[in-house]
Amino acid sequence: MNVVVYPGSFDPFTLGHLDILARSALLYDKVYVGVLNNSMKRHAFSPEERKIFVKAVCDSEGIQNVEVLAFDGLLVEFARTCGAKALIRGLRTASDFVYEAQMFAANRHLAPDIETVYLAANPALSFISSGLVREIGAFGGNIDGLVPDAIKNTIAERLLKR
Ligand code: ADP
Repeated sequence: MNVVVYPGSFDPFTLGHLDILARSALLYDKVYVGVLNNSMKRHAFSPEERKIFVKAVCDSEGIQNVEVLAFDGLLVEFARTCGAKALIRGLRTASDFVYEAQMFAANRHLAPDIETVYLAANPALSFISSGLVREIGAFGGNIDGLVPDAIKNTIAERLLKR
């Protein structure tokens, strides 16, 4: 079975994330979404909330070969526990590339047997980031077209209350 890990903060999950996840689910038998639970980073949403968002979207989209897990520690170790030989990352901009090149080198240093596969962002969605959603949502702006419909209202309400 061809297994891959799609790791990220997903704080919160966006339509850009969904695009990468749906395309990965077509390429691989099983996709483990790794929701980063990093105590050094301050997240707007708890790991549990972020996991629930991804699961709700997979259910509403009928994407069945996905499992959502929270993880902390080294990504390559998480990938090993999932039985994955590869990591999936999305590439939007040149600044994503610079960051990803460094992460690639670090992960390759730690685990040369684990490959990283990059999917180019859908051009129509490449401007979307979780940070943008958090910022717009905090001011009560419209987040339609930025996050999946299935989780839109919950995200909007939570961001307003922060
Ligand atoms: P991280 O903190 O690990 O970068 P993110 O949740 O910001 O976590 O992103 C997870 C992955 O999804 C990254 O590979 C990122 O490049 C990708 N991604 C985020 N937004 C988009 C988008 N709009 N289009 C394509 N890929 C995206």
